[in-house]
Amino acid sequence: MSVTQQIKDKLDIVQYIGEYVPGLKKAGRYYKACCPFHGEKTPSFVVNPDTQSWRCFGACAEGGDLFTFAQKMHGWTFSEALRELGQRAGVEVKKRTPQQQEQDEHLDKLRGLLTTVSEWYHEHLLSDDPHAQRALFYTEKERGFTRETIKTFEIGYAPLGWNSMLDELKKIGYSEDDAVEAGLASRNDKGRVYGRFRNRLMIPIRDERGRVIGFGARVLDPKDTPKYLNSPQSTIFDKSSTLYGLDVAKRAIRDSETAVIVEGYMDVIQAHQAGYPNVVAQMGTAMTEAQLKLLTPRYASKIIMALDADEAGQNATRRSLEVARETLQADYMGKLQVDIRVLEIDDAKDPDEVLRQTPEKWATYVEAAIPVADFVINIETNDLPPNASMTERQAAAQRILPILAASENNLYKKDNLQKLAMRLHISESDLLAWAQEIQRIAARKPRRSAPQDNMPPPPDDSYFGSMDEPPPNFDFDDEGLPPEYYEGTYIPPVEKQPTSPSTAQLPTFATRNSSRATEAYCLGMLLNKPTLLAQINRKFRELAQNNTKLLQGPLSELNSEDFSQGDYRALLSELQSAMSQDDVDPMDYLREELDEMLVDEMTILLLEEPQAIHRHMGMRHSAEFEDVWKNFERRVRPSIDTQVDFIRRALKVRHQRLEREQQEIRFLLEDAQRTHDREAEYLYCKQTEPGLRALLLIQRELGQRTLL
Ligand SMILES: [Zn+2]
Repeated sequence: MSVTQQIKDKLDIVQYIGEYVPGLKKAGRYYKACCPFHGEKTPSFVVNPDTQSWRCFGACAEGGDLFTFAQKMHGWTFSEALRELGQRAGVEVKKRTPQQQEQDEHLDKLRGLLTTVSEWYHEHLLSDDPHAQRALFYTEKERGFTRETIKTFEIGYAPLGWNSMLDELKKIGYSEDDAVEAGLASRNDKGRVYGRFRNRLMIPIRDERGRVIGFGARVLDPKDTPKYLNSPQSTIFDKSSTLYGLDVAKRAIRDSETAVIVEGYMDVIQAHQAGYPNVVAQMGTAMTEAQLKLLTPRYASKIIMALDADEAGQNATRRSLEVARETLQADYMGKLQVDIRVLEIDDAKDPDEVLRQTPEKWATYVEAAIPVADFVINIETNDLPPNASMTERQAAAQRILPILAASENNLYKKDNLQKLAMRLHISESDLLAWAQEIQRIAARKPRRSAPQDNMPPPPDDSYFGSMDEPPPNFDFDDEGLPPEYYEGTYIPPVEKQPTSPSTAQLPTFATRNSSRATEAYCLGMLLNKPTLLAQINRKFRELAQNNTKLLQGPLSELNSEDFSQGDYRALLSELQSAMSQDDVDPMDYLREELDEMLVDEMTILLLEEPQAIHRHMGMRHSAEFEDVWKNFERRVRPSIDTQVDFIRRALKVRHQRLEREQQEIRFLLEDAQRTHDREAEYLYCKQTEPGLRALLLIQRELGQRTLL
């Protein structure tokens, strides 16, 4: 359970607010008082113990939960409120422990060391050391890098002797141990420390935020081996979760929504110099899941693999595709829906050669990159002899089919199957039967097992069928399901609920959690794709049809008021600030600006599967939820359009909010009627109207029956 929820469970909102608002009195199910935030004579400030929320229907026209009240009352930030209320509730609010802080400082120190060393190498390359001048000659003449490129990428030279740099480091307070830990040096059996990089061209490797975390080093003396030497895996350098060049490429990748992946840093530098700034390198033999997730869905919707044309390159491409397939399948709702293509260069040239010799051709190659399916079919069937046995052809099909399924969004495309059938001389229906057999076997295996032998586990929850007709049990259309179904709290209607306004249903624990679930889901999608914000705001404008009352009131742009939870509100306003600036990527902005606690929340929203979101919320219906989810995922997944889905969720969030407000204002209205307060009655009556209208418009949009 999240810390915010734990705190809320321990503190009663009525009691807490009562301390600051002495006039708070029970009236029916609610509590009311004159608003503490604005001057008024008629109480329009309502506290709802069932939802543990408050709202002012007067001049403030706002409300929220325990945290928002405390923030507003004391002028606290969200994290201040979290700390203070956490202390009061006796809930430990996670702070960085002294050990963690120490570790952070230590890592900062190591990164500082690497930055210094990187600058030192770079200066050395441009110095008058004759060895360095040879290195510079190689860089400029053989590699063809301009002085500007050398500067941009801070290319450097590691001299033969190691001591001069070590002396330099010692002068500014670093020890030999620091240099060893940063991967710059090793200690031999006798305890002597010696430098790792000598007489090499040094390429600093930076993380996504541009901080130096390691080096790639290329030989200058042909007698030296290996040709390329990287920093070793260390506390700050993890090659498998780093993409070389991402710090300088991310903006171009986001703008074009396309990332081109090459093998090494030299290719990246070459591409950037040639005017192709959306290129990054995986720096290893195959792409990892962590690398893929650096790119999508945040920056890229299209990934083009441009690996070397030799056999090693082809194998790397194949392995990368398998990783992509696994990652995409583990993902839910197709959030990582990404178009992966493979760039093929004729004449068996490498990207580096093309970029150096004919840079203008690069764009053509990128444009002509072929879909994964074609690539896989080609490489797996090219080596098949014309008289291949049935077993050989069947084995090829077994290698190809799972990748086809994943690359085509878990569906087999008819023309791909046709092509494969032609290549393998197997009938399409036989291929389909095999696919189903592979799936059946896989269904019995645990999900995401480590890749064994040469047949990767095929997808276990995709629908293997013909594209032309839906599966036989596809028994609902897109609009046919109540939103609760998507929330996992759907209970089939058994009897009519009482609908008299005076006995409006009590919000139960379940509905409270279900609103949190909808909010979590909605916010998670927004964080993954901030541009969706504009989509929902357009939808609100469309619904309001120039009615200013609606535009400024119940159909205004999506805002933090829509979220009942203080932590979500804080996240949304931060996201809005992130979107309103243009200096850095919104996600970087958030990572920099967000409070530690909110970063945790954001990570949960961004990465975790819905089950985890529910765990996080302490859901009681997990078994039921998982059942419903499985059903949902299997049937609807391939056809869900993220944007449409998001708009539905966001409308639901707004609907929930308006419903809450209506319930509360109806209470005030009834109260005014009972006490014959005509003025208040008129006021509240007038206030309900736009909200009700907006509710109806949203319901119509959602295609539901009227709920009120
Ligand atoms: Zn007020």
